[in-house]
Amino acid sequence: MRSTGLQLNRAESRFECKRCGACCKDRDVPLTLDDIFRLSEFLNMDPDSFYSQYCVEVAKGDNTIALPYLRRDDGACCFLEDNICQAHFAKPTVCLNTPSTIFGSIEHIRARMPPSCAIHHTRIPESADNERKRRNYMTAMMLTTIYYSKFGTFKYQLSKPFIYRILLFRRNREQIYNFTGNNMASN
Ligand code: SF4
Ligand code: SF4
Repeated sequence: MRSTGLQLNRAESRFECKRCGACCKDRDVPLTLDDIFRLSEFLNMDPDSFYSQYCVEVAKGDNTIALPYLRRDDGACCFLEDNICQAHFAKPTVCLNTPSTIFGSIEHIRARMPPSCAIHHTRIPESADNERKRRNYMTAMMLTTIYYSKFGTFKYQLSKPFIYRILLFRRNREQIYNFTGNNMASN
């Protein structure tokens, strides 16, 4: 079928990441408890060692609860090397969905992205999956916040019931299997 001008315009205005790495610099990356577990598993580290090496706790704005973020070195994320994410296959949920309207309106996202980002002159296609992703992220963040308000810092043993609930909510069988170490999740 021949493309019409309208179809071409739509195609041209689609967001395409330029892989400039700008969003990995000068930006704090919040972590959920399951992000911490997934990243530590990817790096083959025990979660407590991963946490002390790669995470920091920060209280932002009016929030009196310090929450976990990825460590930054000289302003850039500790996993950024030559503009390539060294944690690509296990990156935090926020990175996995950047930029995305699951975190707010397109204006809100543009205001948070670096000026060089293609999002300032293109648009993100809406996905039917957005509502599910938004619910999953909000639930993971809520459980992470409840955990930190109770325990103050990350300890794998204490965080396990919270991680399990997040994975169950996501219904991620492979991760539940890795997490519990048994095959209950695949039944
Ligand atoms: S700033 Fe935008 S274009 Fe650059 S890597 Fe991030 S998402 Fe991609
Ligand atoms: S984890 Fe990867 S994608 Fe996320 S900020 Fe760090 S380098 Fe960028």
